[in-house]
Amino acid sequence: MADRSPGALTLTLDRVRLIVIGSSGTFPAPGRPTAAFLVQQNSTRVWCDAGPGTFAALPVEPDMIDAIVVSHQHPDHCLDLLTAFHAYRFRPEPRYGVPVYCPQSVVDRLLEFVEAADDSELVRTLAFHPVNDGDAVQIGELSVSFATTDHSVPTVASRWEANGKVLAYSADTGPAGDWMRVASDADLFLCEASYQGPAGESAYPHHLTAGEAGAIARRMGARHLMLTHIPPYLDATQSVAEAEATFDRPVELAVPGASRKL
Ligand SMILES: [Zn+2]
Repeated sequence: MADRSPGALTLTLDRVRLIVIGSSGTFPAPGRPTAAFLVQQNSTRVWCDAGPGTFAALPVEPDMIDAIVVSHQHPDHCLDLLTAFHAYRFRPEPRYGVPVYCPQSVVDRLLEFVEAADDSELVRTLAFHPVNDGDAVQIGELSVSFATTDHSVPTVASRWEANGKVLAYSADTGPAGDWMRVASDADLFLCEASYQGPAGESAYPHHLTAGEAGAIARRMGARHLMLTHIPPYLDATQSVAEAEATFDRPVELAVPGASRKL
């Protein structure tokens, strides 16, 4: 017979929670690390992207993390995997086999960084599962699928589903991503907005303007849009205003410490 106590009911029906750890684009600012988020569904907790300084800013004990997802090899998204390696391995009772889902190129970069003698310790501590376009994995109560983005190195956007709710994360990307697979009908679309101003005039084509982020979110039928990856030298309120003009609804801003249920 099913347990119908109020506590059990809450546990069963709890919604996906997103906690922002870092949201700065390309490099951090005081109090605002680069990309990192915690995605939680009941007792399942996944650390998504590992910008520098974000291991120490995790909102839960590192041993409560079930897995790590990293979108790509750029330092503002992956550097704290090295910190995590040190923290899990070089303590009196190491934790081995922490699952890490990321493109193979992330693993290759990290192996170049550590001393050859530590190669085996790195892959013993962090159990890498390379992911490619179209892959899907189940991490506890979270179903996560991946799609390659329009970026300068192999990069995966991710779509997180649990309990009928969908969180989409663009990772770093230009406008040519496979948005249907990533963000269609998302309850919350966490999207990068590295630039401001008119579309198509950015110096680097593999990022989005805030207006492009809003237009994509609207086209995909996302219910809510949250901007991230805004560099410190831009006025984020201007980015939000530009995204609201194309999304045609209020737009949220990823602020470290913010916790939001879908
Ligand atoms: Zn990047």
